[in-house]
Amino acid sequence: MKPEFDKVYDVIVVGAGPAGLTAALYCGRAGLDTLVLEKLSPGGQMATTNEIENYPGFPGITDGFTLAMNMKIQAEQFGVQQTYAEVQALRVDGETKRLETKDGVYRARCVILAPGAAPRLLGLPNETALRGKGVSYCATCDGAFYRGKTVAVVGGGDTAAADAVFLSSLCEKVYLIHRRDTLRASKSYTRKLDKPNVEILWDSVVTEILEDGRVCGIRVQNVKTQAERELALDGLFVAVGNVPATDFARGAVELDSAGYFTAGEDTRTNLPGVFAAGDCRKKPLRQIVTAAADGAVAAYAAEAYLS
Ligand SMILES: Cc1cc2nc3c(=O)[nH]c(=O)nc-3n(C[C@H](O)[C@H](O)[C@H](O)COP(=O)(O)OP(=O)(O)OC[C@H]3O[C@@H](n4cnc5c(N)ncnc54)[C@H](O)[C@@H]3O)c2cc1C
Repeated sequence: MKPEFDKVYDVIVVGAGPAGLTAALYCGRAGLDTLVLEKLSPGGQMATTNEIENYPGFPGITDGFTLAMNMKIQAEQFGVQQTYAEVQALRVDGETKRLETKDGVYRARCVILAPGAAPRLLGLPNETALRGKGVSYCATCDGAFYRGKTVAVVGGGDTAAADAVFLSSLCEKVYLIHRRDTLRASKSYTRKLDKPNVEILWDSVVTEILEDGRVCGIRVQNVKTQAERELALDGLFVAVGNVPATDFARGAVELDSAGYFTAGEDTRTNLPGVFAAGDCRKKPLRQIVTAAADGAVAAYAAEAYLS
């Protein structure tokens, strides 16, 4: 069955990552007429990693693509429709929400926004090619693969400091590389960095990632003295922020200063009948399990709204 422009769905879900696919599964199972719009491929960020070790119920290492396909199939088993479309704008037309794509406008009584977020890159030439080969954007996800090894974390905010603290309990040595002479991170994190295996390189930037098929080191430059040094490393954790994919809803749905939907744990946005789930929402921990949990909560809220 092809998705239709001239009907009003009960629920349209934007994004087929773990948040969107879980929301769709719960909506379908509740008997709601549900359509998922995905601009690229199902699974979102999850589908870009081969090594998931922390999704409950899957001991050992699971690959994200398989998990994504299973989530998609499970939602479809409950009658959910999915189609490829990038939502360019969201508008509210009385009780009906309009989702504009380049091919036409989809309409629904309720919308679950699950467009996710993407890690901000350092912008070094071989960075993307080394993703999964020593370059990581998620210490919670990948830290355990670096037990007993030497790693560096780049960044100066709460995430970078928390990642360095977390990694210091697993790794032999952790460098924290920050381009300024003080961290932006809160005291509760910086205090914990005072450990023998943590070394902070102040006023420093990574200018090159050294590789032998995977990360084997980095070149670091002091921005004040211009002095350069090389560090031998097994892993490079980049923690310089995330970019939420929320631009299409800007002006319609409330965002915080970093661009995340301000919706709380109940996933309700400032617009009645519009919910936000997963990494796109302001929250402390962005993981598959928290995205899936948000998706379930959003579907529950949508069902309550519709009835
Ligand atoms: C390399 C990597 C490894 C990771 N490893 C782990 C791990 O081991 N364990 C773990 O728990 N977490 C891991 N994470 C984090 C986890 O993948 C995310 O927290 C999770 O995928 C967030 O789910 P989400 O559904 O909110 O968003 P996403 O996964 O980002 O999915 C959002 C989807 O929405 C689509 N979309 C965006 N904008 C639009 C639009 N305008 N119109 C239509 N579609 C749109 C996107 O194409 C995407 O498919 C990892 C992340 C990365 C990048």
